[in-house]
Amino acid sequence: AQEIHLASRPEGFPTPGNFALVEAPVPTPGPGQLLVRNLFMSVDPYMRGRMNAGKSYTTPFEVGAALEGGAVGEVVASDVDGFAVGDKVLHNLGWREYAAVDASTAVKVDPERAPLTAYLGVLGMPGQTAYVGVLDVAAFKEGDVVFVSGAAGAVGQIAGQVAKLRGAARVVGSAGTDEKVRYLVEELGFDAAFNYRNGPVAEQLAAAAPDGIDVYFDNVGGEHLEAALESFNDYGRAALCGAISTYNATESTLPPGPRNLIQAVAKRVTLRGFLVHDHDDRREDFLREVGGWLADGSLRHRETITEGGIAKAPEAFLGMLRGENTGKALVAL
Ligand code: NDP
Repeated sequence: AQEIHLASRPEGFPTPGNFALVEAPVPTPGPGQLLVRNLFMSVDPYMRGRMNAGKSYTTPFEVGAALEGGAVGEVVASDVDGFAVGDKVLHNLGWREYAAVDASTAVKVDPERAPLTAYLGVLGMPGQTAYVGVLDVAAFKEGDVVFVSGAAGAVGQIAGQVAKLRGAARVVGSAGTDEKVRYLVEELGFDAAFNYRNGPVAEQLAAAAPDGIDVYFDNVGGEHLEAALESFNDYGRAALCGAISTYNATESTLPPGPRNLIQAVAKRVTLRGFLVHDHDDRREDFLREVGGWLADGSLRHRETITEGGIAKAPEAFLGMLRGENTGKALVAL
């Protein structure tokens, strides 16, 4: 069976040489473990942080060992009560064809209720991030004007729609291509969107939200966060979800700021970082509400699935960092 190892730690933007495709024996499950054949795996921005040596918000990946991450697979061997051969499970041992998964960390998923890929995206960790980020962290209220950066990605596409469906006065999104901008406005119902590569973010945001913004869902950091601080109304609230514009930066390419943090003082803005895992008590609410919108067609989403098996996973990861995905980036194994 094949798996992907971290061959070396990236410096700046990762390259294919940072990964190695390795032949390994199919693992033998120990007591309490399931043997799982992976069907889909997720590539996520946070994995870039785990490729660095220092501690980010989780422990670093080890050089010479298989990478890890969200995956959905089929149980092919089980001695564990409650898990049968053929069951589909969500777990955290992606980047390999076969995994010996501790049953205590596996979550059974129902392919009748939603396609298996949804459990890694709209009904999984990214969807829940969007839901709690908007509603709990940014304390969204009906009538707010909301700005979402990284809006055509896995988290952003859901964040904007949660705000809209909960009664936002206006939802504005930014993304890195004109095609994504059209997707936001024409398919997802954003009120306005812009391509951040087409001009200064602050100017484009001010034009798209002429009466200012109340909530900012920040996936990008840097220039986007500065622009939001310029556009905030008094008592604005930002959910700081990520800062992907900084993940591959070296000292010389690190984006600025925010250089205008004083605006947070002047406008009495709340800037609140969060990690989705601290909000697991909201999982049932999230699944009920977002699952309901998905079922009745009021919420839409996209996935970008790279075919061709495990060997394509590094390429899919690099493509996601370059913005080649719309919606959730996944690999079909
Ligand atoms: P996405 O599906 O949004 O994929 C990443 C996207 O980032 C790309 O498609 C690209 O789109 C955009 N991007 C890449 N480089 C830049 C740049 N320099 N400036 C602006 N945009 C850029 O990923 P996710 O939805 O999974 O994650 C979005 C954010 O949420 C990340 O910051 C991630 O770290 C964070 N996150 C945080 C969690 C938490 O618990 N706090 C949980 C999950 C995610 P484009 O074409 O628009 O450039």
